[in-house]
Amino acid sequence: MRLLLPILLVTTHGPASDRALNDRVCLTAAAASSALEQNGSWGYPPEILVCATGPVTMDRVEKAIKYWTKLGYTFGIVEEAPRDHYGCATGKVPYNTIMIDIPSQSFKMGVHLGSTKTWRNNDNEQHPRAAEIFKAKIEIIPAWGATERILEHEIGHALGWNDVTHTGHMMNGVWSLGGYNSRGLKQ
Ligand SMILES: [Zn+2]
Repeated sequence: MRLLLPILLVTTHGPASDRALNDRVCLTAAAASSALEQNGSWGYPPEILVCATGPVTMDRVEKAIKYWTKLGYTFGIVEEAPRDHYGCATGKVPYNTIMIDIPSQSFKMGVHLGSTKTWRNNDNEQHPRAAEIFKAKIEIIPAWGATERILEHEIGHALGWNDVTHTGHMMNGVWSLGGYNSRGLKQ
C-alpha cells in the first residue's frame, strides 16, 4: 500500500535587487551541503512547459535541456504555453510537468533570483531519495532569465538535486561560485 504524501520542497536563491550583491547569499530551504544528493526522481520523463510570460526563450530552454540530456536525463514534450493556458494563469502546475514562469506572489522580490518548487510522493521517510517527483515549478526573475547557468541550475533542483558548496559546480547555490562542473550528476 503506497501512501501518497505530497511534499513540497522549495529551493531559492538570491538576493537579486542588486546584481552586484546577487551571489552573496543563497537562501535555500535547506542549507547548501558539502554532499551532493538527489532527493527523489521522476517516474516518467517530465514535460517542460514554458509559460507565455516566462522569463526564458525557447532557445535558452533547449540549451539547458541539452546540458541535462548529456548527463543521461530524459524529458518529454518541451512546449511554450499559449497565453490563456490554465496552468500558467492559475499557477497550478500540470502533472508530470516542469513549469517555467516569472515569479508568483510568494516569491520574495529583491531576495531571490530563482526558485524551484518540487512536489513529490514519499512513502518512506527513511529513504527520501526514493521519493517520486511528480511536478515542479521554476520561477526566475525576468532580468535573470538569459543569464548563464541559472536555468540549468534550477532544472537541477527540479530533478531532485540539492545545493552544494563545491566551487565551480553546477549545483553551487551561490551563483558566482558555480560553474559547469557536473561531477556526480550523471544519471
Ligand atoms: Zn540552488
